[in-house]
Amino acid sequence: MVTAAYLAQAGMNTLLLEARAAVGGTAGSEPFADATVNICNCDHLTFRTTPVMTELRLAEHGLRYLDVEPSQLNMAWDGSAPWPIFHDIDRTIDALNALHPREVEGYRRYLKAALPAVRLLFDAANDPPSFGGLTRKAMNNRMRGVSTMFAWSRRSAADVMRSFFDTEALRAPGLLVGPMVWGISPEFSGSGLGALTYALRHVANVGRPVGGSGMVPESILAAFQSYGGEVRLSSPVTSIMCDNTGVIGVRLVDGTDIRSRTVISACDPHRTFVEWLTNAPPQATKLIQRWRTMPHSQGYESKIDAVMSAIPRFRHLDTALFERLGIDAEACTAAIAPTIADMHRGYELMSRGEILEQPGLLVNVPTALDPTMAPAGKHVLSLEAIYTPYNFTQGWSADDEPMRWMQQYSTLVDDSFPDCIEQWRVVTPASYEREFHLPQGHATSFAGGPLAALRNKNPELTRYETPVSGLYITGAATFPGAGVWGASGRNAAMVVLQNR
Ligand SMILES: Cc1cc2nc3c(=O)[nH]c(=O)nc-3n(C[C@H](O)[C@H](O)[C@H](O)COP(=O)(O)OP(=O)(O)OC[C@H]3O[C@@H](n4cnc5c(N)ncnc54)[C@H](O)[C@@H]3O)c2cc1C
Repeated sequence: MVTAAYLAQAGMNTLLLEARAAVGGTAGSEPFADATVNICNCDHLTFRTTPVMTELRLAEHGLRYLDVEPSQLNMAWDGSAPWPIFHDIDRTIDALNALHPREVEGYRRYLKAALPAVRLLFDAANDPPSFGGLTRKAMNNRMRGVSTMFAWSRRSAADVMRSFFDTEALRAPGLLVGPMVWGISPEFSGSGLGALTYALRHVANVGRPVGGSGMVPESILAAFQSYGGEVRLSSPVTSIMCDNTGVIGVRLVDGTDIRSRTVISACDPHRTFVEWLTNAPPQATKLIQRWRTMPHSQGYESKIDAVMSAIPRFRHLDTALFERLGIDAEACTAAIAPTIADMHRGYELMSRGEILEQPGLLVNVPTALDPTMAPAGKHVLSLEAIYTPYNFTQGWSADDEPMRWMQQYSTLVDDSFPDCIEQWRVVTPASYEREFHLPQGHATSFAGGPLAALRNKNPELTRYETPVSGLYITGAATFPGAGVWGASGRNAAMVVLQNR
């Protein structure tokens, strides 16, 4: 959608094809039980580090952000004291001084190493990656962040966290929102940049759009149309057609052919190259072969949405302290983390189709910040569970397993929680496949940072161009990666416009 809006803004005759009846994919929101629920967890962090909102003039099309502050409440199943992370470093240190005083010195050391790397990462994400471009950015930053980027990208994220912090309370939640959310073990060597997650929140402001995550795609759609773009909903593409010179258009499921010498796929690259590309010219043979033999990842995220009559309050908070710090604990996302050892075990269990007894949970109450998301007096609960595999041995047709996550969560909040729930639903990897066109329920993600972009074995993921003339890719599978980010869409548009 971001690419389409930039192309239309630049005067290209642009058609946006969407398989579903609504735009937005996993960044969208939808109605449920008279309320609005988000498909994703809706902590938008990276999007706000890009110029997309300003350049596409999304505020004029209804996009307005509410800052989430604190941006996250870090919790662990081991019962250690929950601690808030604020955008402001001093407020965070103040909270740590009260709750985990022995970790303060480690947190300062961590930030000294991590903050420059995060600034470099965000800067690098806003252009198609190239050796020359990244070197220039590093020089402009006086090489700050480069050593961390190199050193951490060779280590495991768990190892990085252990080198700064003594307790799971500080080590684990940062890894939950890093490697665990990416579906890998934090013990994997090379996952080290996944330890940047606390620092991300001090550089960027976490926010949620008024009206839900779906206001991002809705406002982009409105901007796109205002620039003359055309959209067709409920129009799944079934093939990308070529002649011997390059791409010539797409075929829709109803047999309609749409002719164009430029086609941009924002979908799973595996599906794009292996299933959809037909009559590909010889220069694409190696590309197709490479993607055909690449193993396809399976989905591992699930989400419960519930409509409730009240906000569940956490039991084990130091209420007086949280009041002094001015914190509404339920408005931000509570990252409830297993220990690192359990994360690694959970990863191994996942490969056997099993789920941890106490999974990693990301929980928030969107209505605590934005009452427009439910009728007066009602609240929405968003509970995301990680390492919940597509090939779950018990299958996803019964609700027993999601019920168990709710029971786990209920041990952390006041007793009235179960009685407050009026309606609930669960979205599992099986539903992401069925309803969001994500093969095996897997939400794609470009792995690694800018360095990985340079040594990538799949250059189309970082250049957005393919060996098929006129065929481009974008979306979460391409650099800089997943999240409601927009950078890959903007980068892809720059490449298309340069080649015009
Ligand atoms: C449970 C969960 C929680 C998340 N939480 C967060 C969060 O808190 N913060 C954050 O920043 N990110 C979060 N994300 C990630 C974020 O939602 C995604 O990375 C991002 O939305 C991906 O955008 P995309 O455009 O690349 O892909 P998608 O959102 O998958 O969009 C692709 C679009 O292509 C359409 N499509 C597919 N096949 C066809 C076809 N054949 N023809 C036409 N159209 C087709 C799809 O319907 C879809 O609309 C979360 C994701 C999940 C699953």
